[in-house]
Amino acid sequence: MPKKITIALAGNPNSGKTTIFNNLTGSRQHVGNYPGVTVEKKEGTLLYKGYTIHVVDLPGTYGLTAYSKDELIARNFIIDENPDVVIDIIDSSNLERNLYLTTQFIDLEAPLVLAFNMHDTAEKEGLSIDKEKLSELLGSPIVFTVGNKKLGMSELLDEAINVAERKTPLEGTIVRYGREIREEIVHLESVIAEEESLIGKYSSRWLAIKLLDGDRDVRKKIEKSTQGREILEKAGKSASHIKSIFGDPSEAVMAERRYGFISGAVSEAARRTIETRHSVSDAIDKVLLNKVLGLPIFFVVVWAMFKVTFSLSAPMMRLIERAQAFLGGLVSVVLPGEGTLESLIVDGVIAGVGSVLVFAPVIFLLFLVMALLEDSGYMARAAFLMDGFMHKIGLHGRSFIPMLLGFGCNVPAIMATRTIEDRQDRFVTILINPFMSCGARLPIYALFIGAFFQEKIAGNVLFGIYFIGIVIAIITAKLFRRYIFKGETASFVMELPPYRMPTAKGIFTHMWERGYLYLKKAGTIIFVGSIVLWLLSHFPSGTMETSYAGAMGKKITPIFKPLGFDSWKVTTGLMAGFIGKENMVATLGILYSDKNVPGEGDSLRDSIQSARKPDGDKLFTPLSAFALMVFVLLYAPCIAVFAAIRVETNSLLWPVFMLFYTTAVAWIASFIVYQVGRSLGF
Ligand code: GDP
Ligand code: MG
Repeated sequence: MPKKITIALAGNPNSGKTTIFNNLTGSRQHVGNYPGVTVEKKEGTLLYKGYTIHVVDLPGTYGLTAYSKDELIARNFIIDENPDVVIDIIDSSNLERNLYLTTQFIDLEAPLVLAFNMHDTAEKEGLSIDKEKLSELLGSPIVFTVGNKKLGMSELLDEAINVAERKTPLEGTIVRYGREIREEIVHLESVIAEEESLIGKYSSRWLAIKLLDGDRDVRKKIEKSTQGREILEKAGKSASHIKSIFGDPSEAVMAERRYGFISGAVSEAARRTIETRHSVSDAIDKVLLNKVLGLPIFFVVVWAMFKVTFSLSAPMMRLIERAQAFLGGLVSVVLPGEGTLESLIVDGVIAGVGSVLVFAPVIFLLFLVMALLEDSGYMARAAFLMDGFMHKIGLHGRSFIPMLLGFGCNVPAIMATRTIEDRQDRFVTILINPFMSCGARLPIYALFIGAFFQEKIAGNVLFGIYFIGIVIAIITAKLFRRYIFKGETASFVMELPPYRMPTAKGIFTHMWERGYLYLKKAGTIIFVGSIVLWLLSHFPSGTMETSYAGAMGKKITPIFKPLGFDSWKVTTGLMAGFIGKENMVATLGILYSDKNVPGEGDSLRDSIQSARKPDGDKLFTPLSAFALMVFVLLYAPCIAVFAAIRVETNSLLWPVFMLFYTTAVAWIASFIVYQVGRSLGF
């Protein structure tokens, strides 16, 4: 018995569908109508390699919306008749436009074979397509055909049989609609999946997408189901959320994202030897994605982003610190003589709230700038530019911005990983971020480099520290990718949505949603953490040295002996650095200000230069100072970063793991620096 396969031929009008249909079926054709409508339905049958292949010529369409009779017929045929293969015939000389229909078949999860027809014309116009690459990105086999010369017909049938035999839906490829829309899709999908009358014939993801597309036909279907009203209400909310962010109706944003997906795929896998593109976005991309200019422009943009964020936030942060000091002073006036209570309020509560709030300006500003870059479409270009390099270290183009932001502050950097859709990529990017040396660690380096290194090598030492951080981050990324977050870095389309003017409302919504989330979720952790640390450093005695924290510092100090800086004061400073890295300098300042010890109390720099071990040797040499800086670079992230990892991974496991992992890495790296340095005679 020969096997039977049904193939539906789809494609834009004039893509060569009828020509290919005739090539395949020859004279064995039958013309009728689709049931109930006067749209012509052509069918034919052929025998090929033992298969009886039934071919149906669908109406030529540009999309699969519910607005046109032809499009509705085409899509209902696929949903109702469930053909084994859909051959999407594409006019390759008009690629982007024709691929729009393809994105709709991908949404439908149809078993696709793409016939890149008119290949002769496309070649003449100077288009060269990397078939393997594009086929991987679109998740469907591609066959080049020339319909009117009958070229590629048997290959087309071979691929169709392959797909039909595989039966399973094509893996992997989905049209990426971006984080906000994806979240709404996922949300609607889960609501739809609960409605039993809807599942089976339709995929709930497709229904969700169609609701956001404002599809009348799907709305009608859903309305009839038991929870229909509820689902439609939720869909309405999702659509207006999208509209509030992007300023356009959700169906327009969806269409734009589909074009972005196509444009990304085509930019990656097709090259035009003769320039024929004309749209404004393409014109801008000619400059911004230029081989020579692209990266320098990108770095200027990033530099400006940093500059704006950190210089605008600095005065606001100072204001918050001043308010904090003012409130502290007020408490001392109101509660004179109430030593412990006063300290709890000032050093515990006010300092705790302060350390949450002090991050707020930088976070909100950074998210503001990021929203601007994202909504305008530039962020996608940045990821596109860096993708090749980032893949070499096992990451994604989108990981680059968060890593860069880490040099400013790891908290917003970790929150910025939300633009990374792939979970594996996202987690790795989050977990390596603490190794990017944040701004708060700089005062510590400044102190120790100033005290132990000559001015002319100071810059190199500092660079060395940052460099070690980057190297460790790359090694960590590779390790995590290999052993924890396995799975290939599937190459998928780097979307290039058209540039658009961001709306003020969209940007502020973006900024507020993310910034607020940080304050709400991380706030509690930081606040509670600050109080706990206060308790540890004030009880039972009231002074740091004799407190639990001090005792703990003394107890763990010996583990730093092989690293060259075993002093309880340094250990306590490191522990204070857990609240905020910049606290380490302040704590050292307090601990080294004992006027009774010779050499102490002049300046912190003098004090640490002349600090001695119990046996009388100098505590710090340039080598042990360097080992300490390496340790500061790598050890446990501050509590705000801990909280950010907690929020973004939605688990306590990862921040706790990071606490141990980073500290272990810090110890080992610092050990190597100190011991190797010593054996080399430094
Ligand atoms: P349909 O509207 O999709 O059914 O397209 P047709 O099959 O009617 O083809 C439209 C025109 O394109 C016809 O004149 C065909 O001869 C021509 N055509 C079809 N395939 C090719 C091809 O691969 N290359 C070129 N140059 N012309 C083609
Ligand atoms: Mg035709």
